[in-house]
Amino acid sequence: MSLKLLLFICVISTITLSQTKHQFPIDTVDITGNFGEIRNNHFHQGIDFSTKGQENYPIKSIDKGYVYRIKISSTGYGKALYIHHPSSGFLSVFAHLNRFSDKIQSQVDVYQIQNQTNELDIFLPKDSIKIEKNEIIGFSGNTGSSTGPHLHFEIRNELTEIPVNPVFYFDIEDTTKPVLEKIIFYNLSDTISPQPHNLSVLKYDNTDTILIPPITGVAFSGFDKMYPNANPNNIYKVQLYLDNKKIYQHCLHYITFDNTIYVEYFSEKIKKQIFQKCFAPHLYPPNFYDTLYNKGRIILSDTNYHLLTLNLCDEKNNCTTKSFYIKPIHQNKTYKTINKKKLLLCTERIHIKTPYFKILIPEKALFNDLKEKIYYNKDKKRIEYTGPPISLRYPAKLTIYHQLSRHDICKAVLASSRKYYTPEIFDNKQIVFSVKELNDFYLYIDKTLPSVKPLSYDRKKKKIILPATQNKIYFKIKDNTNIKDYTVYFNNQFCQSYYNAKKQLLEVKLPEEYIASDNNTIQIKVSDIVNNTTIKTYSIY
Ligand SMILES: [Zn+2]
Repeated sequence: MSLKLLLFICVISTITLSQTKHQFPIDTVDITGNFGEIRNNHFHQGIDFSTKGQENYPIKSIDKGYVYRIKISSTGYGKALYIHHPSSGFLSVFAHLNRFSDKIQSQVDVYQIQNQTNELDIFLPKDSIKIEKNEIIGFSGNTGSSTGPHLHFEIRNELTEIPVNPVFYFDIEDTTKPVLEKIIFYNLSDTISPQPHNLSVLKYDNTDTILIPPITGVAFSGFDKMYPNANPNNIYKVQLYLDNKKIYQHCLHYITFDNTIYVEYFSEKIKKQIFQKCFAPHLYPPNFYDTLYNKGRIILSDTNYHLLTLNLCDEKNNCTTKSFYIKPIHQNKTYKTINKKKLLLCTERIHIKTPYFKILIPEKALFNDLKEKIYYNKDKKRIEYTGPPISLRYPAKLTIYHQLSRHDICKAVLASSRKYYTPEIFDNKQIVFSVKELNDFYLYIDKTLPSVKPLSYDRKKKKIILPATQNKIYFKIKDNTNIKDYTVYFNNQFCQSYYNAKKQLLEVKLPEEYIASDNNTIQIKVSDIVNNTTIKTYSIY
């Protein structure tokens, strides 16, 4: 697709979308996280609505449709609803809910009890649960990997399920311009590991000419607010002009799940401040950039003054512009040619083989070539990666040759600073993992059982005390890896429960027909990712 056509579509889709406005999903409209915001290892793919630190705000459907998917997970989106709006052509997604509406919950109850499962990911037939515009579909919460009570909301294309910027679907008042905080320059003579050029930062009010290397990239830090006291969010559109020619433009319109890790190439944290780069690495997601002349690199062979203009705009086209002069300095430096054999090449399949492990990284799993090494540290008994941890777009296969006993190998997980991996396959010689990062890795033998502790327990009577006001009881559940399964039985009958991994808290909903009695028992069965299982039985007081 030609660049002009792409730009045309970008503009047209923005215009057509802005004509159909929808009901907000929550009454208190305060957006504390916007689309494309830079998070750890990913771009934020929705918008966050503040719930002022509280839970249980009613959440309403933004349009008519039907419940398309219900997902309950102890991590990630927690309790999440997906609604299909066929007449509008998109899905709306609501994450971290505390609970669903009674109408939806009754279907969840049936599924959980029939299948004796707490966690689920179900796709419902069209119109089996119809939803009206404005209908309360659930209540906000803090479930899954949420770091505080809020509503995470997404709009996805109904066919591709690619998340798009939801702001265009609502009538949002915004007359506040983006704020440019700092500009820095990268020396791009070395495109493999571009370094910020002497880190001299350009403050917004600086009007001096900037001396730059002959091949330079621009990066900036900044934010956008919807109103003066609002939360600082990310900036929607960024344009860079060299001598009035546009050399770079991106707008945060949609981001696929495959490409969300691109954030690690797109931005860099320097001295606690996040900078966004207006230049691209060797590979980049298709359609991510609208304009990318010379990959956004400023290449100057003269010694003249050149005008550089950075233009930052929000979704409502409130813009902030900064122009200044740059002048290249040519130093008679000879650049070392890099031996390609020593690189991890992003365009080729990478295969590293040692007596201790082998790793196979698919082509295009990295967006740029890396100068790093992956090797086995015999003393520390770990696979080490020389660079800072980096996500992979596609998983790599890591095979470790081991000498573990048959008993130990069943309890082996691969640990990195980010997560625990369970093996895909193993035998008495090797153990294979699918990893989505380059990082230090080591085998960890987990033989520790999960611990289970009731929150309100009468030690003397050796019984759980039931709170008078509700039929819910809570257990603290901890494990040195992760919890995979949990099941609760009340008087030997399956009983619904929800585990919040972040809070390490298991919430058990006692049956409606619960009758206080001396003979009530509750049994908790919890397993971790390598099937270490704890079973505990308690009486309820
Ligand atoms: Zn969110």
